Amino acid sequence: MSHQVTELIHHAYVPPEGFVAPQPGVFKASTVIFPTVAAMRSREWKDKSAYTYGLHGTPTSYQLEERLCTLEGALQCLLVPSGLAALSLVALSLLKSGDEVLLPDNSYGPNKALVEGELMHWGITHQYYDPMDPQDLEAQICSRTKLVWLEAAGSVTLEFPDLLALVRICKARKVLTALDNTWGAGLAFKPFDLLPNESPALGVDLSAHALTKYPSGGGDVLMGSVTTRDAGLHLRLKLTHMRLGLGVGMNDVEAILRSLPSMALRYRAHDESTRVLALWADSQPEFVQVLHPALPGSPGHAHWKDLCVHTFGGAACLFSVILDERFSRDQTDAFCDALKLFKLGYSWAGPISLVVPYELQSMRTVWPAHIEKGTLVRFSVGLEAVQDLQLDLEHALRVLR
Ligand SMILES: *Cc1c(COP(=O)(O)O)cnc(C)c1O
Repeated sequence: MSHQVTELIHHAYVPPEGFVAPQPGVFKASTVIFPTVAAMRSREWKDKSAYTYGLHGTPTSYQLEERLCTLEGALQCLLVPSGLAALSLVALSLLKSGDEVLLPDNSYGPNKALVEGELMHWGITHQYYDPMDPQDLEAQICSRTKLVWLEAAGSVTLEFPDLLALVRICKARKVLTALDNTWGAGLAFKPFDLLPNESPALGVDLSAHALTKYPSGGGDVLMGSVTTRDAGLHLRLKLTHMRLGLGVGMNDVEAILRSLPSMALRYRAHDESTRVLALWADSQPEFVQVLHPALPGSPGHAHWKDLCVHTFGGAACLFSVILDERFSRDQTDAFCDALKLFKLGYSWAGPISLVVPYELQSMRTVWPAHIEKGTLVRFSVGLEAVQDLQLDLEHALRVLR
């Protein structure tokens, strides 16, 4: 008979098998226990046929990975601690000293910070291309170009590029394409099947997704994923992922698994309210421009229509306005401060509506010709009643007037 403390650790009770519930179980581990030395030696951590160590996954993370493959139309998936970590994993896996990476000028800001503040020190150069001009991308591809980032719609200014044209150029030049698919989220369009009715499939090579946004939907979890449809490419990422030790917590995985079933419903609800508010904003004289891909006249609207026609025409929960140049910075700040339901805060796709004023001139290499001059304010539309949100905006506009 062993001691009580030992028994508390090595307990004889095993619960009956066959437990089935709507939510998958949560398996947490650093250590994974092997039955024999032989089993320990022969375990293969690279495929998902078994378990080796918590960093390489548990049944819980494997389930989320497979569900995300279904969401994005991919075959392999890796989980990382944030959306930004997904972007950095792609860069660190695929680029080496002497290589060049191209980013759209409307990239997610921290991706620009990554190439400027980190990759540059390791001898990896970058250029920014005009996302609305495929010829500009074509002209910038050189023999050192190893990766092209894509975003649809672009961050903050929400221009919708001709994604097909950009992908075709990269394919012809044999350069890998990575899409930041946070906005489309696997619902607005299929990143690996941009022409769903054509075969062979035409799509991006990698999709990076900030699960922090729609898949979480709660504003309380940070996570990212990188999905692929190519085993060799996945392996390159997986090796870097392992060497860098990019694990995720299973409680966070559980939270995403819990939110995933309602994701499409939430996406649609956010989307419907956003269109109502974007359309309303378009008729307010203080806003000289409203940026929202579903709005006719918004930059790239026709490309959005072409690509997203295969789905319900998803257009996410973001729209930006350009406030007339005559308003000072203090006035636009006062407009944002006057909002009560739209809270000041980063991120999006959670239940709470958010607002952020941006200094566009400091974010772009040049002021885009298709954006009117003025101050940009970006709204993330939450799940509140749209009438209340519109009243909140109307009230803040009265403060501005
Ligand atoms: C939020 C966001 C990210 C980064 O996600 P985090 O989890 O906040 O690091 C990346 N790309 C886009 C387009 C995003 O909106």
